[in-house]
Amino acid sequence: MTKSNLPGPKARAMIERDHKVISPSYPRGYPFVMDHGKGSEVWDVDGNRFLDFMGGIAVVSTGYSHPKVVKAIQEQAEKFIHISSDFYHENWIRLAEKLDEIAPFKEDALSFMTNSGTEAVETAIKLARYHTKRTNFIGFTGAFHGRTMGAVTFTASKAKYHGGFYPLMNGVTHAPFPNPYRPVLERRKGEDYGEAVVRYIEEEILAQILPPKDVAGILVETIQGEGGYIVPPDGFYPALRKLCDKHGILMILDEVQSGMGRTGKWWAIEHFGVEPDIITSAKGIASGMPLGACVARKSVMDWEIGTHGNTYGGNPISCAASLATIDLIEKEFMQNAKEVGEYAMDALEEIKARHPSIGEVRGKGLMIGVEFVKDRESKEPAHDLTERVVELGYESGLLMLSCGKSVIRIAPPLAITKSEMDEGLKLFEEAVTVAEKEGGRL
Ligand code: PLP
Repeated sequence: MTKSNLPGPKARAMIERDHKVISPSYPRGYPFVMDHGKGSEVWDVDGNRFLDFMGGIAVVSTGYSHPKVVKAIQEQAEKFIHISSDFYHENWIRLAEKLDEIAPFKEDALSFMTNSGTEAVETAIKLARYHTKRTNFIGFTGAFHGRTMGAVTFTASKAKYHGGFYPLMNGVTHAPFPNPYRPVLERRKGEDYGEAVVRYIEEEILAQILPPKDVAGILVETIQGEGGYIVPPDGFYPALRKLCDKHGILMILDEVQSGMGRTGKWWAIEHFGVEPDIITSAKGIASGMPLGACVARKSVMDWEIGTHGNTYGGNPISCAASLATIDLIEKEFMQNAKEVGEYAMDALEEIKARHPSIGEVRGKGLMIGVEFVKDRESKEPAHDLTERVVELGYESGLLMLSCGKSVIRIAPPLAITKSEMDEGLKLFEEAVTVAEKEGGRL
């Protein structure tokens, strides 16, 4: 069902108006102009239907406009839209109680609500400094934590995010993210690659550059998102936890993309059997209403009244949407993410067997990355082919997003059905076939 002449006339006209008044800094993948959505389907302003494999960048966890989320938003809007974080309201408290219940550590949890992922990360950075009375941090290459000054300092997936914005925040040293497909460090006998990275941090960074007594926290995306949907080896988090404990360093996990049931568990760290000190959440937490949270152990979130705050924190509509979202994830969609995710991984392995341009398929639940390479031996990233697959997908009715150098991320709504997944994977494979042919690969 290739759609000729995309974007259509209405979309073209709107894009023209957009370009006159909206910041040119937004990276738009392709000219999709939304009209409405339902579940995992979206329609553009010219009436074209698309299946969505990107969920508004891994946000619309319950699908577009789930009736229960819409109802919660409507009911709350009729009662009150705003009161400010200087006062109290029940849905904010209920949400924090729920986050306490599902936080990936045994200790009680306290939450600070934010308006976005980057603000949740900013909160975590400030809290770590305040609590430890230390100033420095370790982050990772390939990371994406947001665009505000603190978070963007840790972000290391594209140099363009830093260019023109110096000086950034002081005190951040980057270590290589443990990417088992593209290791850059030597492994010792008996060590997995995650353990090798932690040894590098200990021996090369903490021993030679940055004294551990000055390190407040290590900030890491549990599964790296924008950097390429990379799942670290099993040994990484246990070794990192040990290192943090040894030196009194806080383990801060950014679960803005990997959390809220996307990987088939509430938090991706639950796949690794380790308890962090602070986690950040956003994206899927409220099905698209702007909301984030910095969730910390009670003993860590010990800042005094007035030290940190915001006007919209705990926004009533966002909290209502989040409570409805979390309920749906808990009752149906987390299990669906696990089942449809495993189903998709198996199908993608079969697709990989038919397509030499696919170097690796990886992921957990519905956080799946497909990495394209020029050849499997050299693993040279096939950037142009990847972007062409995204473009061909759009032209045939499938919305996808790339990440890393040559990875397509499959991050649909957690509500996606197996038959929708089949439909999407068929379009995906057709796009790969055409892109390979064009590039002389078949
Ligand atoms: N952290 C991670 C892991 C993300 O993927 C993102 C956004 O993509 C952010 C933080 C920043 O979130 P926001 O765009 O809501 O500020």
